[in-house]
This record gives sequence, C-alpha cells and structure tokens, in this order.
Amino acid sequence: MAISKLAAHVNLNHLACTSLKGVGPKVAEKLEKLHISNVLDLLLHLPYRYEDRTQVRDIATLKDGERALIKVTVELSQIKYGKRRSLLCRASDQSASIDFRFFYFNKSQQQRLQRGAELYAFGEVKRFGYQWSMVHPELTQVDSKGAAPLLESLTPVYPTTDGLHQASFRQMQRQAVELLKKHPIENLLPTNIMQEFQLPDINSSLAWIHLPPKGADLAQLESNQTPAVKRLIVEELLAQQLSLLSQRFQNKEDTAFAIQHSGALQQRYLELLPFKPTKAQQRVSQEIIDDISSNRPMLRLLQGDVGAGKTLVAAIAALQAIEAGFQVAIMAPTEILAEQHFNSFAQWFEQLGITCLFLVGKLTAKQRTDALQQIADGQAQCIIGTHALFQKDVEYQKLGLAIIDEQHRFGVNQRLALKQKAPDGYQLHQLMMTATPIPRTLAMTVYADMDVSIINELPPGRTPVKTVALSDQKRNQIIKSIHKAVKQEKRQVYWVCTLIDESEEVQCQAAETAANLLTEQLADCRVGLVHGRLRPEQKQMVMQQFKQGHLDILVATTVIEVGVDVPNASLMIIENPERLGLSQLHQLRGRVGRGNIESHCILLYQHPLSDNAKARIQVMRDTNDGFIIAEEDLRLRGPGEMLGTRQTGDVSLRFADIVRDAELIPVIQDQARSLMQQDPELANKLSERWLGARQEFAEV
Ligand code: ADP
Ligand code: MG
Repeated sequence: MAISKLAAHVNLNHLACTSLKGVGPKVAEKLEKLHISNVLDLLLHLPYRYEDRTQVRDIATLKDGERALIKVTVELSQIKYGKRRSLLCRASDQSASIDFRFFYFNKSQQQRLQRGAELYAFGEVKRFGYQWSMVHPELTQVDSKGAAPLLESLTPVYPTTDGLHQASFRQMQRQAVELLKKHPIENLLPTNIMQEFQLPDINSSLAWIHLPPKGADLAQLESNQTPAVKRLIVEELLAQQLSLLSQRFQNKEDTAFAIQHSGALQQRYLELLPFKPTKAQQRVSQEIIDDISSNRPMLRLLQGDVGAGKTLVAAIAALQAIEAGFQVAIMAPTEILAEQHFNSFAQWFEQLGITCLFLVGKLTAKQRTDALQQIADGQAQCIIGTHALFQKDVEYQKLGLAIIDEQHRFGVNQRLALKQKAPDGYQLHQLMMTATPIPRTLAMTVYADMDVSIINELPPGRTPVKTVALSDQKRNQIIKSIHKAVKQEKRQVYWVCTLIDESEEVQCQAAETAANLLTEQLADCRVGLVHGRLRPEQKQMVMQQFKQGHLDILVATTVIEVGVDVPNASLMIIENPERLGLSQLHQLRGRVGRGNIESHCILLYQHPLSDNAKARIQVMRDTNDGFIIAEEDLRLRGPGEMLGTRQTGDVSLRFADIVRDAELIPVIQDQARSLMQQDPELANKLSERWLGARQEFAEV
C-alpha cells in the first residue's frame, strides 16, 4: 500500500512497516528482530546517540571522542609503509591542524587529497594533547559556491541489526515522522500529569527525538534529559504502574477462605519459645493475621534482613491456618534449607500436636507414597519441602496458605504451580519471604502488585559483625586469626571462595586448593569442604558435621546456603569479595553473627583494587544494614544484575531507568492510583500502548 493511498484515519500501530518506501519483506524481517512490527513500534525505537552535522567546528575546539564536521585545506598527503600501508594526510583550518588516516583507499581518493584541496570532513576525533586526528573521515569536496553539506537537524544513530544500515533507518524514520504528522497518535496523558512534569505533546516529542533541530543540547539529549524523552519516560512508568495496579485489583477480586481463628494456638506457641517476639515481628504478624482473616487472597512479601526472625512470623501465619483446619505448605529453594525449616517447625509444632511432613525429591518411592497419602487425607497439616510440593501427583486435602521462602529464587511459573493446589474455586493466601532487601524504588516497580511487610529490627542482643578488608599479602595474619578463633575461643570459621566468572569446575578446584592449604597451615584444626560438584547427600553430610561442631573450618564455594544457621560460627573469610555483588556479600556475611558473640568478616582481596571495587568494599565495612547495602548495590550494578536474570523480565522498561528516574516513581505511583479510579478506560489504553505484548507474559 502506498502512503498516498492511505485512508484518512490511520492507526500507526496497525500500519505495517512494509507500507514505507524502501521496506520490503526482507527489511521487515530484520525489523522484526528488533521487535518492530508496525510504524508506531518504529517510532518508539529511539536513537541511542546523535551526530551533529548542522555546524562547522574549529579543530581547536574539538574534544577527544567527539564526532564533528570540519572544513579544512590539505597541506600534505603521502602513503606510509609501516606495518600496514596507509594514506596519511595533514590538513588544517585557521585554528589548528589535523591528521587523517586511511587504511583503505583508491587512486581517486588519493587524488582528492592533493595539497591545497578544500574539503569538509566528518568523523570521530582522537585528541592527544594538541594533536588531532581522524581515521577514515567522510569527505565532501567544497564546491565552487562554497556551500557546506550542512543539515537542518541532528543526525540520529539507531541501535540496529546486521544488514540494516543507519541510512535506511534514518530514511524509514523520516517517513514515519511524516506519517505521524498526518495521523497523530492519541494523547493519553491527563493534563494534570503533563503540567506536573511540564511535558510536551507525544507527537511533537517523537518528531523531535528523531529529528532534533539544530542547536539542541547533545549532552542533554544523549543522557535522556530532554523534555521529549521525559515525556516517554513518564508515560511508560505510568503505564507500568497502571498495569501492576490492575493485576492487583484482579487478584483482590478473587476469593480465598477467610481464615478465622481464636489465636489460642499462636499463644501456646509463643509461650514455648525461649524469647519474646520483637515489636517488628509483632507488627508484621498482625498485618498477616488481618490479611488471611479476610476472604481476599493475601499476596504479601515479607522482607527482613538475615537473622531478623522471619521464621517466627511464618509460624504465626501457619498456626492461624492450621487452627482453622487448613493445610499449610512451606516451600524452600533447596533441600538443605527445606530440611532446616522442617526441623525448626517440627520442633515446636509437634509439641502443639501438629503433624509436620517433609516432602522433597530424594524420598524413596515408599516414603513418597505415604507422604502423598497423608497430604491427600489431611493428616499432614504442615507440609514443608522444595518444589516437590507442587508436583502433579501431590493433592492436598484443603490447602489454605502457601509460604515461600527466598521467593526470588523461584520463577513465576513455580509459584503459579503451587497456587494451583488451592481447593477448586478458591485462591491461596500467599506469603513470600526474602532476606534480600529490595530497594524501595525497585520494589515499587517489580513488586507493586504485592503488599509488603518489613521486619526492620533485629532481635536484641545481636552484636553487629565487624568487617575488615585485607589484601592477600596479609594471608599469614589471617591464618593466625583463624587459629585463635578455633583454639582459644572454640569458635567455628567459614572460608568462602568466590570465582563466579569461572566454570564450576575451576571454582571447585579453587576451593579444594584452599582447603588443602588450610589443612597444611592449620594442622590442628578440622577442615571440611563443600562445593557444587558434591552430590547433595555429601554436601548435606559436611554441612551437618559443621553444624554439629565436628568441623572447625568450612571451606565453601558460594553454594553455601543462605539461611543455614550455625550460631557458633564467628569468623568468615571471603576470598575475592570484589567479584560478588553487595547483596550477595551481605547474605554471606549474615552466616556469622547469629549468636550473641562478637563476629568478624574478613574481605580478602587481590591487590590492587579498582575504584568501583574499593567503593563497594567500603560500603560493606561501613554498614550492616541490608537496605542501605541494597540501595548501593542497585546504584553500582543496576537492576538487571541485582535481581538476577530471572526477574529482569519484570522490569524491562525501555526508556525509564529505575535508578536514574527513582524520584519520579513514587509520584507516578500516586498518579496511577487516582487515574485508575477516575478514568479506568484511559488507564487501560495506556497500559495497552506500552505493555500490550508483555502484559500476557506478566499474567501467566
Ligand atoms: P531469618 O529472618 O534469617 O529467617 P530466623 O527466623 O532464622 O531469621 O531467626 C534467626 C535467629 O534468631 C534464630 O536462631 C531465632 O531463633 C532467633 N530469633 C528470632 N526471633 C527472635 C527474638 N524475637 N528474640 C530472640 N531471638 C530471636
Ligand atoms: Mg530464614
């Protein structure tokens, strides 16, 4: 379909790119690779930088790395025969001189570069002191009239794919902008939001981004600070908040069992414990009790630093359901963790006459059949395990509550599979737990569909872990500290080897080497080793030995489990801490300082450290607060790395950046709430424009 024949009213998001001149099926296929299937997609495919061909610059003003247009007179040009044959040309304007270098050239190019020739040159500038140069500049002869090849707007450079050139991209975008002028897209931002952020109209924003006028501030453009880009950022963030909100409303419309209880069982449990719950534990317990007393399904994220006492809160929730005659499933990401949960729950629950059951993959066929039977007939009241909990053949008699520990280690589908185990026509109450604190802005974007409870207080009597950084040249001193901790203080020690970039094999070898070395240097200490290549039961055995005090030193790769509790361990050495993220270091460090004894963490780094590594190690030394560490981690590494690949799909924003745009998020969340109430139809249109395709994924 030729553009001229288009009907009066055209929706650009229904208009295939093949309707543009020069776009046939081959180009369309390449565009698909970039997730561009219609003209609106194309317009939303933004340049990642710009070139300025709107003005002629003086050489002397050029900075290293800049791309610029200059007008020069050739002074000298000659072929050099070095390692590689090249054409070297010295040229100058009134301000300075510059060298051009060509590795590929033909006779006619060589002739154009005769002494005295006047040329325009465009290219990337290299500058060393007062020497400027360009490799393979684009050259244009100054014609008789002296007119410069100047453009009216900045030249966009697009992210592209093999075989799709910038020139064709620019040509397509110019046509798309023309189309946009004839068939503008609907403005979906309410006036108050436009005013609050002083945003321009969507159509002029897009036109401006693809063809910024002469004089536009390049630096501002490239750091996405222009009003035009901000318009897209705000609209995208708003759409994201709206879609999270609507998912949340949808969830709340479903029914769950309103779990009524007297609180008697919880009371008896608290009386059994050797300590009193902290204020924070009481507060979040109450939030959860209120949630599951209502017939709207709970979807709550319980955040609390390592050792904050999430288990007690989980137990309180479980007891409410159990008292009312429901089953509870508690799921952990690994067998070691599941077993630890099983032990700590069973220890108290069995005193209360509650039947706990352990369900993991390694059960024998007979054990499994028995277990499934007890789950189906309701004899098992509290079922604790791994992903084995939601396998097909597991049928619950009456499951009312699911508790998921270290929820970020499960994928969306796994959580969903567990949800399916609710009685027909009902939804489960779900309590997710995590010890990886999530910065507020990130929580607002990734977890906006959940309610959040935070245990912001540690049980009393904890002594904060003291953290020091030592270079590997101080190894002997560290060996002495270990000896002292083990022999004089009768404490236990973790030695963690981190080599995340290497293969698992290399990692395990490194751990083996470390263990051998320590055995040699500390002949009177008992050294154990766990790493990823051990069979699960071997791993389990070593961990048990350490837990029971039969080993003094545990050498481990980063497989050592978050949540494993050995209160007598008071010293941890982390080798090459610079290779880990801050949150991960904080998790590891949380393995010590679990009792009331003074504990230490030594970050054993390779000398010398980069600036970024220094900054990160400093954060670890300065604070034990998981939330501060998480904020820093987000700032230093960005959301993708911080959350791990499993969840980055959830934050795949195209224009907004939750670190850079952090301060917008709370404001936009408020706006989203009121828009949702005042104009649900508009809200819907907004989520569709921005998240149409991804929405389905989010709802799986
Ligand atoms: P996490 O939040 O990391 O799961 P846990 O629930 O394992 O923390 O608790 C860590 C340790 O603190 C456990 O040994 C637990 O018995 C103890 N603990 C929990 N709550 C309290 C409290 N209110 N007072 C004293 N000790 C507590
Ligand atoms: Mg825990």
